[in-house]
Amino acid sequence: MAAAFGTVFMPEMAITWFDGSNWSVPEMVSSNSITLHPGAHVLHYSSTCFEGLKAFRHEDGSVNIFRMDRNIARLSQSSRLLGLPALDEATVAQMIKDTVARFADEVPAPPGSLYIRPTHFGTEPAIGKAAVPSVTSCFFVLVSPVGDYFAGGDKALRLLLEDQGMRCAPHMGMIKSGGNYASALQPIMRARETVQADQVLFCPGGDVQETGAANFLLIDGNEIITKALDQSFLHGVTRDSILTLARDMGMQVSERELTVDELLERAAKPGCEAALSGTAAVLTPVGTLIYQGKEHAVGQGGVGETTRKLRQALNAIQWGQADDTHGWLTRI
Ligand SMILES: *Cc1c(COP(=O)(O)O)cnc(C)c1O
Repeated sequence: MAAAFGTVFMPEMAITWFDGSNWSVPEMVSSNSITLHPGAHVLHYSSTCFEGLKAFRHEDGSVNIFRMDRNIARLSQSSRLLGLPALDEATVAQMIKDTVARFADEVPAPPGSLYIRPTHFGTEPAIGKAAVPSVTSCFFVLVSPVGDYFAGGDKALRLLLEDQGMRCAPHMGMIKSGGNYASALQPIMRARETVQADQVLFCPGGDVQETGAANFLLIDGNEIITKALDQSFLHGVTRDSILTLARDMGMQVSERELTVDELLERAAKPGCEAALSGTAAVLTPVGTLIYQGKEHAVGQGGVGETTRKLRQALNAIQWGQADDTHGWLTRI
């Protein structure tokens, strides 16, 4: 039995600290522990954000990071919206590359990869700063080798549609920040317990948004429908990649509002598919939607052909088996 996703870490990580005026020279340190003051801002007021991206081993032995620029841009945005000190993007890129290069020999071959977790948080020891940003911070790049996400079989997920609550405060949605996952935890725990759902699809006021950690895509024939970007949800890099590949294949991409009513109506059609997109699982099929105590199969309720085709197209680029026509890979 392989280790659970994200539980094995490489022994070192790159780290840098902001002292209020300057960033320290990045170092490689042990990834076993960091020293924090118990009054550190992050521990009390959740001044933290992170990224998740992957490095892939190719047949020629090279190691390639997928869409690093997009992830760094999102990390900068998260940091800014949390009032954290500004990161130097070139330094962040170098720290990511250095950490991956340090463990290049241990990047698993496809379908495995090296999962990269850059993390930035406020360290100022000041518990009186509930409504003031931390002036000091820490940024590190932790890496974790991961195996085949679908090793246990490619099973279609069950999603509970939640139209009363929301995942997080609407102005926090586009920030990849710890507090948002804490906010979504109770509804997810309840959905697992009461209807054996795998995830909750948050649809505040009937507006189909996303799950706790992945974006939602509806695939109806040649059309992909997904919520248009606004500040209420996380702008997934996988979402963008899948939509780009779908356009390349001649599919119609509709980024617009999708209501629960329209979703259920379309899902009932035999050829319809739905999927969740995110770095960890790439594209995971959704087979069942649960709404107001009733179960609705999506299409045939299994793993859809288009979902599989799109995932294969993305994996082929990541794994070096198809041309990287969009310039998404950074070779180490
Ligand atoms: C990380 C995340 C996603 C997916 O983003 P990717 O860049 O595709 O990995 C979607 N929604 C939430 C809430 C997330 O945290």
